[in-house]
Amino acid sequence: MSNFVFLGPPGAGKGTQAERLILAHGLLHISTGDLLRSAIREETPLGKEAKAAVDAGLLVPDELVIGLVEERLTARKENQGFILDGFPRTLEQAKVLDAMLAKMGSPLDHVILFDISAALLEQQIEARARQSDEAGLQVRSDDNPAVLKRRIGEYARATAALSPYYEEKGLLRNVDASADIEQVTLQIGALVTR
Ligand code: ADP
Repeated sequence: MSNFVFLGPPGAGKGTQAERLILAHGLLHISTGDLLRSAIREETPLGKEAKAAVDAGLLVPDELVIGLVEERLTARKENQGFILDGFPRTLEQAKVLDAMLAKMGSPLDHVILFDISAALLEQQIEARARQSDEAGLQVRSDDNPAVLKRRIGEYARATAALSPYYEEKGLLRNVDASADIEQVTLQIGALVTR
C-alpha cells in the first residue's frame, strides 16, 4: 500500500497519471477539484459555497476541502492506498492532513512534484480545452486564459510553501512531467510498494 500526494500545476498530467495508477494498483483517487466540481453541479450546500471561488480560480476555504477529504479517506477500504490530487494546497491543509493521517495510522509515503515548464504547460492546457470542445464536452468554466493564469499563480504560491515542508520530511519526489505519459507512469509506479 502506498499513499501519495500529487503536487503540480494545472495541466501537468496529474489526473492522467492518477487514472493509470488506480488501474494498476487499486489506489483511491481523491481529487478535490473533481469533488468540488461535482458538488457544484449537484448544487449541494457545499457546492454553492465553493462555486464563486472555483469559477474565479481562487482557493476555497480550508474547512470546506478538509471536510471533503476526510470524508473520502474515512470511507475507503481498509488498507487501501490513496492519491490526493489537488490537496493539500496550503500549509494549514498540509498540517491538518498530517494529523488526520496519523490518527488513521496511514501516513504519507510520497509527495510527487510534477516538474514542467510554463511553455509546455500552456500547450497542454490549450490541447485539453480543444479536445473537450471537439468531443462535444463542456470546457471547464475555469479553463479560460485569465482564470488559468490565476490558478497557475495559486499553484506557484502553494508549491513555494509545500515543497520545503515535505522536503524536510523526506517525502518529496521530483518527477519530470514533460517526459511522455508512459515514462512518467513508470517513474511513479516504481515508487509503489505492495
Ligand atoms: P487545477 O486543474 O487548477 O489543478 P483543480 O481541479 O485541482 O485545479 O481545482 C480546481 C479549483 O478547485 C481550484 O482552482 C480551487 O478553486 C478549488 N480547489 C481544489 N482543491 C482545493 C484545495 N485543496 N484548497 C482550496 N481550493 C481548492
